[in-house]
Amino acid sequence: MASAAKTQKPTPHAVCVPFPAQGHINPMLKLAFLLHRKGFHITFVHTEYNHNRLLKTGGTAAVFPLPDFQFATIPDGLPPPENEDSTQDIRSLCLSTREHSLAPLNELIDRLNGGHPRSPPPVSCVIADMHMWFVLDAADRIRVPGVLLQTSCAGDFMCNKNIPRLVEKGFVPFKDESSFTNGHLDKPQIDWVPGIFPLRLKDFCNFVIQTTDPNDALLQFVIAGTSRSSTAAAIIINTFDALEQNVLSALSTMSPPIYTVGSLHLLHNQPSENMSDDATKSMRSSLWREDASVLKWLDSKPENSVIYVNFGSIAVLTQHQLIELAWGLAGSERNFVWIVRPDSVRGENAPLPEEFWAEIRGRGFVAGWCPQEEVLGHAAVGGFLTHCGWNSLLESVCGGVPVLCWPLFADQNVNCRYACEEWGIGVEVKGGDVKRDELGILVRELMDGERGEILRKRAAEWKEKAAAAVACGGSSCLNLDRLITEVLNA
Ligand code: UDP
Repeated sequence: MASAAKTQKPTPHAVCVPFPAQGHINPMLKLAFLLHRKGFHITFVHTEYNHNRLLKTGGTAAVFPLPDFQFATIPDGLPPPENEDSTQDIRSLCLSTREHSLAPLNELIDRLNGGHPRSPPPVSCVIADMHMWFVLDAADRIRVPGVLLQTSCAGDFMCNKNIPRLVEKGFVPFKDESSFTNGHLDKPQIDWVPGIFPLRLKDFCNFVIQTTDPNDALLQFVIAGTSRSSTAAAIIINTFDALEQNVLSALSTMSPPIYTVGSLHLLHNQPSENMSDDATKSMRSSLWREDASVLKWLDSKPENSVIYVNFGSIAVLTQHQLIELAWGLAGSERNFVWIVRPDSVRGENAPLPEEFWAEIRGRGFVAGWCPQEEVLGHAAVGGFLTHCGWNSLLESVCGGVPVLCWPLFADQNVNCRYACEEWGIGVEVKGGDVKRDELGILVRELMDGERGEILRKRAAEWKEKAAAAVACGGSSCLNLDRLITEVLNA
């Protein structure tokens, strides 16, 4: 008996390190909850800045940890921003975390592995966000599997993998700054990226490619990341097989083993017999305080009658765009929920005019942040005007909600093309010089028009496929088990 007990494997312990922005924290936390459900001890690592924000917003994930699910913090190396309720600059975060977060993470791991009577089980794997690829060094140092989580789509991963080739072929860096705006980004058709439709330059992450400097620090960061990611023990992607078949099959021959486990939020919502799971289902991770009264407001509206408008956690509009959007929604004469983050307008943030509030009384709900997954799952929501952040788009797919796409930056252009050209669930809004009347027409067309009807039908089909992927025996459900047995707890 004694020797049998000795050979028993210790409880696996995963250290999860998200990139410190909302759209990266959410899927990493869902993955951590799922691993916890499967018997893992979890240490979830926030930056100090985000941890403090979660304490303020009632992000209970930071406040009420479970006994075998603990939170820890590391610095991001940035000075606190002027507005302590805002998303930090993404470029600065990438560069600063690389320089300042690894050493404290190593120290944290050493403390966790301290071997004291009250220490958790030894760290047995490290899961880092794709943008935190340098964290793989922490896994190598203690000789455990280091795995990366791609929180955007497989298509975005493929685009980033090909940025070094854009450099080789002379597309990047740009010759001069006028190329950023003169239509150059809409060309050329890049048809040599495997598994994906012909790409425009603007389908690649603008933060990275829009530079005239060959030594640009972010460009170099991404090039180093693409090479380092190929040494990960595995790549986890928050997508599902049916959604991105072609690019996934192309990636399978040029990357470490890939495990598609999306949609993580849907997989986490699957019924489970584990009691502590119910606790994780009600844990929030919002960096802004959620206005949950939106759900009650939606209860009072007929099915498919509300357009939901949200630009995620990073996007910032100009005052002009905000005003056109406001009057476009008012002029659409449809019900709407519009989330305007406190930091969502560039420069002077003038309040919306009195006449707007009078015009929309009873049919418009405006708040600073909301429980989006629940909103997109609500029967009253019949359309989503979105910036096409990957989580938002995937949550829309899972809710069967067609989209009006207003992409702004990063992966949003490529995500928009998937929605409009591949899955047939969306129409693009030309957001740059958006006009209120055109927006009103697009909203009406989506909510009541013939085209909207077709998009809604396609969205319903994708909703079924998303549900099938996470159901027992579905691809994402099986891939999570394979990830555990083949890599994380092999
Ligand atoms: N979100 C939310 N409430 C809001 C706005 C966004 O809960 O009012 C969540 C949303 O469900 C998603 C994440 O924040 O999980 C935003 O990620 P996404 O990739 O869509 O966009 P990003 O913020 O990274 O641009």
